[in-house]
Amino acid sequence: MVAKQHKFLLEESELPTRWYNIVPDLPSAPPPPLHPGTLQPVGPDDLAPLFPMELIAQEVTGDSYVDIPDEVLDVYRLWRPSPLYRAHRLEEALGTPARIYYKYEGVSPAGSHKPNTAVPQAYYNARSGVRTLTTETGAGQWGTALAFACAQYGLECKVWQVGASYDGKPYRRSVMETFGASVVRSPSELTETGRKMLAEDPEHPGSLGIAISEAVEVAAQDDATHYALGSVLNHVLLHQTVIGEEALLQLAKAGDVPDLIVGCTGGGSNFAGLAFPFLREKLAGRMDPLIRAVEPASCPSLTRGAYAYDYGDTAGFTPLLKMHTLGHDFVPDPIHAGGLRYHGMSPLISHVYELGLMEAMAVAQTECFDAAVTFARSEGIVPAPEPTHALAACIREALACKASGEEKVILTALCGHGHFDMAAYDAYLGGRLVDEAVSDERFADPLTRLPQVGG
Ligand SMILES: *Cc1c(COP(=O)(O)O)cnc(C)c1O
Repeated sequence: MVAKQHKFLLEESELPTRWYNIVPDLPSAPPPPLHPGTLQPVGPDDLAPLFPMELIAQEVTGDSYVDIPDEVLDVYRLWRPSPLYRAHRLEEALGTPARIYYKYEGVSPAGSHKPNTAVPQAYYNARSGVRTLTTETGAGQWGTALAFACAQYGLECKVWQVGASYDGKPYRRSVMETFGASVVRSPSELTETGRKMLAEDPEHPGSLGIAISEAVEVAAQDDATHYALGSVLNHVLLHQTVIGEEALLQLAKAGDVPDLIVGCTGGGSNFAGLAFPFLREKLAGRMDPLIRAVEPASCPSLTRGAYAYDYGDTAGFTPLLKMHTLGHDFVPDPIHAGGLRYHGMSPLISHVYELGLMEAMAVAQTECFDAAVTFARSEGIVPAPEPTHALAACIREALACKASGEEKVILTALCGHGHFDMAAYDAYLGGRLVDEAVSDERFADPLTRLPQVGG
C-alpha cells in the first residue's frame, strides 16, 4: 500500500516574512472611505483617535508587500506555519474524484485565523504608546484573539461581546478573561449607544454593529485607548495573507494547482487571506482558479445587499465604507455562525467582487451542519460554524465532480475549530436547528436608511 500524504507542512524558516497587498495588482483601486460628517475621503488625522499611524499607513499603502516585524514573526511562530491537509477521508466518504485541500487555522491560540491580525495590531498599538485596546466580538473568536495578543505586549483589553453570544457561549468569555481581558455584554450601560439600545429593549440580543459602536465610543474618548477591528478593513485583510502565502507553498509541495478556492465570508478576512495570494497568481496568468465566497442565507451581504456607502457600525460613528451592505441597522437572526452575522462586507472584497474577479453564494445553516458532521466524522476535526459554510460549498462541488467525473482541485480555509460552539452542534444533533427564511421586506427596509452620499 502506498501511504497517502495527509499533511503538507512548512519549516519555521518558510514562514512568510511579508504580507501581500492586492490593491496595486487590481485594474482599479477601491473607492475611499468617507468622513461621516464632511463626506470627503478620510485622511490619516481622522483615523488617528482610533488607530496607530503604522496601521493607518497599511490601510492606504500602495506597496505590494509590507514586511512583518520580527516581534510579530516571533509570536506567529507559536503556531505558524499552519498545516495544509488533503482531505482523503472526506473524498472517500463522498466518493468524489475531486481532490480537496483545507488550510487549518484552528491550531492558533484562539482556535481561528484571528490572531494573524490581532498580534500585529496589538504590537503596533503597544509600540505607539497606547495602553488599552477596545473591541467588539460576536462568537468570541476575535475577542479571544485580541485578548491573547494584548497579553503578548502588555496591553489592557476591553471586549464588548454581542449579547446573544455572551448569553449562549459563556466559556468563550472565560477564555478571554483567562488571557486577561475584561468582557461586557453588549448593549451595555457603559456607553451612550448601549444605553439607548437597552432603553428600546432591555433584553436586546445585540449585534456586531452595536458592539462596534460601543467599543469605538469608548476608544474615541481617551488618548491612551485605541480600537481594534477583527475584519473588514484593508490592514486586517493584509495581515491575513500569511494564510494564502503558506498555502501556495504547500499546494506546490502537494504538486497540485487549485481549480476552485472556497471560503466563508463574514467581514471577509479569512477568505481574502487565503484567496488574495492566489488571485495575484491568477492576475499574473500563472493559474486560473475560480474564487468563491460563501455567506449565510440569513446575512447575505454579497448576494442580497446593496453596493453602497454605509457605516461600519450601527450608531454611525465610523467612516462611510463603500461595500456590499444589508444596512447598518440590519439585525441578523441569531444563527450559530456568530462570526458571519455582520451587515457589511470588506470594501476590498466588495470591490474585487464588482470587478468580476470572484463569485458568491449563500447557504442555509442546516446544510452547513450536515457538511460539518460529514467532515468531522471523516477528518476528525469539529469545524467552527463559520467555515461549515465553505465546507457545504466544497461538498456540493465535490458531489458535482462525482456526477461529472471531473478531478477538480478544491482548496478551502478551515478557519477555526468549533470546540466552543457545541451548543450549536447540540441543537443540530437534537433536531432543533431550523432555517428561517428572511423576507424580502426585512432585507429591503434597512436599505431605505443608507446614508445619502451624492455621486
Ligand atoms: C471571525 C470569524 C469568521 C468571520 O470573519 P471573516 O473576517 O469573514 O473571516 C469566520 N470564521 C471564524 C472561525 C471566525 O472566527
